[in-house]
Amino acid sequence: MRIVIDQDVEHFFRARITDGHCDLRCSIFGAEVTWAAAFAYVMVHKHFKESRDRDLIFADHQDTESLPQLLEFAFDRRVTERSERPWPVHLPAPTFPDANRGIDYVDLARELWLCAIGWILHHELAHIRLGHLEKTLADLDDEVAADNKATEWVLGGLEDEEMKVKRSLGMAIAVVLVAGLSLHRDSRAAVGRRTHPPAGERILRALSHPSFADNHPAQEFACVAVKIHLDRFGIQAPAGAFETVSESLSAYCRQLIDWELRRT
Ligand SMILES: [Zn+2]
Repeated sequence: MRIVIDQDVEHFFRARITDGHCDLRCSIFGAEVTWAAAFAYVMVHKHFKESRDRDLIFADHQDTESLPQLLEFAFDRRVTERSERPWPVHLPAPTFPDANRGIDYVDLARELWLCAIGWILHHELAHIRLGHLEKTLADLDDEVAADNKATEWVLGGLEDEEMKVKRSLGMAIAVVLVAGLSLHRDSRAAVGRRTHPPAGERILRALSHPSFADNHPAQEFACVAVKIHLDRFGIQAPAGAFETVSESLSAYCRQLIDWELRRT
């Protein structure tokens, strides 16, 4: 098996069989969009933890004022328009670790971004391992099986609790990102056959895997991240206070699912 880095704006992460070789393809553009999402989710979650305010005004804070432009570049330009234009220099960007600088939110976003990409690549690897690439028609159940396998590989048998939380947050980024991508792209194949489960359903299922206890930090993180995408599409966030984080995640994902189903 080969890992191939390419510049595909159409498919960000995918497994393919080429000349008898299994290729795990990772697009630079996909890595960029994933970083932008990770950074935005981390910054909005930081403010939510500090204030518990669900309606953050980006322009009111120095560390969030550039997020609308970052999200616009990543999702509207890269994802929807398939633009190949370079990353704008004035936008936040990933950096290499620097022991002299101290840890900041860019470092945190980078760590979680790597965990997110790790989970996505394991999902693609699972398609290879489970023999899905040999089928002529993609199956919705294949996606569920690949998600579960990836979660088992990434979280299974892990003793270190901190590492487990970190990888879980990375996984939350990955599944919410997929929802963001499907909102920005038509998730149906050309013949009108759905190739992936509704994105909201997928988030709920992935974050209800037995590896996640109820009210897991990754579920709260995912709620905040889902709301960013709902807001961008003018989709009403669920009203009311929720008793538990799991309840809140279900309501946010239900909103996403209803919107997706109305659209198709
Ligand atoms: Zn897949």
